Amino acid sequence: MLTAWRNLPLRVKLTVLYVGLLTVLLVILGLSLYYDTRSFMISTTVQSLRSQNQPVIERLYRSGPPRQGQNPAPGLGEIGSASGPPTLADIAPFLAQSQTSPNMTAAVYSTSGKLLADGHSQPEQPLSAPVDPVRMQRALAGDPNQYYTTSFSGQDTLVILIPLRSGPPGSVQTGVMELSARMDVIDEVLARQRLLIILGVFVMLGLGTLGGLWITTSALSPLQRMIATTRRIAGGDLSQRVNLPRRRDEIGQLTASFDEMVERLEETFAAQRQFIGDASHELRTPLTAIAGSLDVILLAPEGDPEMTRRMLSGMRRELQRLTRLVTDLLTLNRLDAHQSLHLQTVDLATLASEVAEQMKPVAGERRVEVEREGDTRVQGDADRLKQVLLNLIDNAIRFTEPEKGVIRLRVYQSGKDVHLAVSDNGSGIPPEAQAHIFERFYRVDKARARASGGSGLGLAIVKAIVEAHHGAIAPIKSEPGQGSTFEISIPQTADGRRPTSDH
Ligand code: ADP
Repeated sequence: MLTAWRNLPLRVKLTVLYVGLLTVLLVILGLSLYYDTRSFMISTTVQSLRSQNQPVIERLYRSGPPRQGQNPAPGLGEIGSASGPPTLADIAPFLAQSQTSPNMTAAVYSTSGKLLADGHSQPEQPLSAPVDPVRMQRALAGDPNQYYTTSFSGQDTLVILIPLRSGPPGSVQTGVMELSARMDVIDEVLARQRLLIILGVFVMLGLGTLGGLWITTSALSPLQRMIATTRRIAGGDLSQRVNLPRRRDEIGQLTASFDEMVERLEETFAAQRQFIGDASHELRTPLTAIAGSLDVILLAPEGDPEMTRRMLSGMRRELQRLTRLVTDLLTLNRLDAHQSLHLQTVDLATLASEVAEQMKPVAGERRVEVEREGDTRVQGDADRLKQVLLNLIDNAIRFTEPEKGVIRLRVYQSGKDVHLAVSDNGSGIPPEAQAHIFERFYRVDKARARASGGSGLGLAIVKAIVEAHHGAIAPIKSEPGQGSTFEISIPQTADGRRPTSDH
C-alpha cells in the first residue's frame, strides 16, 4: 500500500493530498453551516412560540377559566368553584386545551412531574412528546429556557418546557407546561439546505480537483522534460539540454543549473578526450622513432658500428623525452586531483638562486642573473615551486641563443604577494600564440620545441601549481625576436589567498 503510494506520480500525490484537505475543510464547513442554521431556526421558532404562548398562559392561569357569561375556549366546560382560587390540577385541562392547535399539543405537569392534562384530542394534532427527565427536572427547578428536539412515531418534534406560576415572575412555581410542536417546516427548510450544501461541496471538490491537477501538472511538467533529457544524457548524448523557456521559480533555477552542470561536464569530457588524444600522439612519436631505429639495427646487426652508436644515442634521447613526458603527465595528474600541498615557509628568491645554480650546466654560455627585493618568503610547497622555476628557466634557456642568452630572475615583494619574473632575450612568442601557451601540449613551433626536448606541458604545470597556491599569472610580455617575460605572484600568507579558480 505504502509502496503503491510512493510509486504514484508526484502530481497525483499532490492532487490527492490537496483534494483530501479540501474535502475535510468543506465537510467541516458544510456541517457547521448546517447545524448552525438548524439551531438558529429551532431557537427562533422556540422564541416565537414562547413569546406567543407565555403571556396567554400566564393570563389564563391567573384569571382562571371563563365563568358563566364569558366565552370559554371551545370544548371547555366550567371549571373550579366560586369557593376559592382554582388549583393547577383544576385548571390544567383548560390550559392544555387552550394551547393545543393542529400543529402543537400542550400537556401540563405538576411539580412532582405527574401528567395533569394532555391537550391532544384530534387525530391531526401531534402527540405529546415523551418527557426528557433531565430537562423536565431543570424546568421543574424553574429554568425557563428548556427546549429540545426528539423523534418519535416517525415524527420530528420540537419540545418546549414552560414553568407555570400562579402569580407574577418570582411567585411559587406550580408546574410545567410541555408544548410539542411539529418540525415539518423546519425539516423542509433544512432538507433544502442539506441538498444545497452537498451540491456545493461536490461542485467545489470537482473544481478543486481539476484546478489542483492543472496547477500541479503545469508546475511539474518541466520535471518530465528534465527526466527525458537526463535519460538521453545517460544514453551518452552530452549535447542534450533541458532548455526551459524563461522561468524564475525553483524548478526554473533547478533546470538552469542542471543545464550548466551538463555544459561543464561536456567541456570536461571534451578536454579529457583531447588530452588523451594529444598524450597518445606525443607518446607514439618517440616510440615510433625507437622502433624504427631498432628495426634498422636488427636488420644489419653486424653493420657500421659508428651508425649503430648514433642510432643508440638517438634512441637514448627519445627515451629521455618519453621519461620527461610521462613524468610531466604524472605531475599534471596529481595537480588535477588537487592533492594537498606540503605548505612551509619558502624563500622564493633563495629557491630561485638555487635553481639557477643547478641549471648552470644546461645554460652553458648563457648568463643567468637573480635579483631580489624585500621579504620574498611565502607559504608554499618547496618542491612544486621549484618545479615552476625549473620549467620557466628551462624554457628561457631553450628559447635563447647559447652565446648571447641572458636570463634574468627578479623576485620581489609587492603588497601581500611575492612576484617572480623570468625574462629572457630569446625568440619571443608571436602575439596570436600568447593566449594559448599555457594550454596542454601547445607549442608555437612543434618541430623545434620537440627537437629541443619540450613536451608542451611545462607551462600547463606552471599554471596548475600557481593556481594550487592561489597565486596569479600576469599577462605575458613578449616581442618576437626580443625576448619574453613570464611573471607569477604567490600570496605570502594563507590569509592573503585568492579563491581557487574553477579550472
Ligand atoms: P615545452 O615543453 O614545449 O616548452 P611549454 O608548455 O613549457 O612546453 O611551452 C609551450 C610553448 O610556449 C613552447 O613550445 C614555446 O613555443 C613557447 N614558449 C615557452 N616559453 C618560451 C620562452 N621563454 N620563449 C619563447 N617561447 C616560449
